Amino acid sequence: MSSLAVRVMWLYPDHMNIYADRGNISVLEHRCRWRGIDFELGTAGPGDAIDPDAHDLYYMGGGQDRDQALVTRDLADTKRDSLAAAVDSGASFLAVCGGYQLLGHSYEVPGSDPLPGLGLVDLRTVREPGERLIGNVLIEADVGSGPRRIAGFENHGGRTYLGDGEQPLGRVVSGFGNNGKDGAEGVRRGKLIGTYLHGPLLPKNAWLADVLIGWALERRTGTVPDLEPLDDEMERAAHESAVRAALR
Ligand code: GLN
Repeated sequence: MSSLAVRVMWLYPDHMNIYADRGNISVLEHRCRWRGIDFELGTAGPGDAIDPDAHDLYYMGGGQDRDQALVTRDLADTKRDSLAAAVDSGASFLAVCGGYQLLGHSYEVPGSDPLPGLGLVDLRTVREPGERLIGNVLIEADVGSGPRRIAGFENHGGRTYLGDGEQPLGRVVSGFGNNGKDGAEGVRRGKLIGTYLHGPLLPKNAWLADVLIGWALERRTGTVPDLEPLDDEMERAAHESAVRAALR
């Protein structure tokens, strides 16, 4: 093993993984390996405990309501405290759609008991009357290096509302975002990102993968890494095509 490694924990790969969200893991892996950085991937499903020091980036993808119900119980039973400890000690977290909803206090679906979330950020999600929020989406976000565009695809029935102290990941340029009303998309608190954007997210926004890789290495080494630039011609084309789709 080389001394430099990005250590990723993929939560519930069999349950929280729709719209090819596994593509996000693939992008992280390739962008590390192309630079000679080791990539260590752990997975945790129902019943598996988490060691908060063993990984620097946690990832949870999207899921249907029934999978979220199963995952919610398991998070409370076996993972919530360890994940809170990992985030408190500087680990990064990327959560997409159903995973994003579970970062907050609860997901409320009329006629069912509310699903309690991890409570890592102050947000709640409610399944309100009305159509699902579906379509291509473009947001403008600033995750530390100035405003950048993030393009993707959203499909959610839940509407998410951030608490007063929380910042969105970005502002909606085109699409619905958190709830189709307030112009906010996702949440960002430090190195924790929640977003409704599938796509999958990282293949269409490779620069964001590098932000996450940088955060993970910073936690491991204590210094902000200088990541070698890659030939991103194809990645840029994928991004531009997703942007055009969202603006159409
Ligand atoms: N089940 C959630 C909703 O519809 C999340 C769906 C998803 O992850 N795409 O709101």
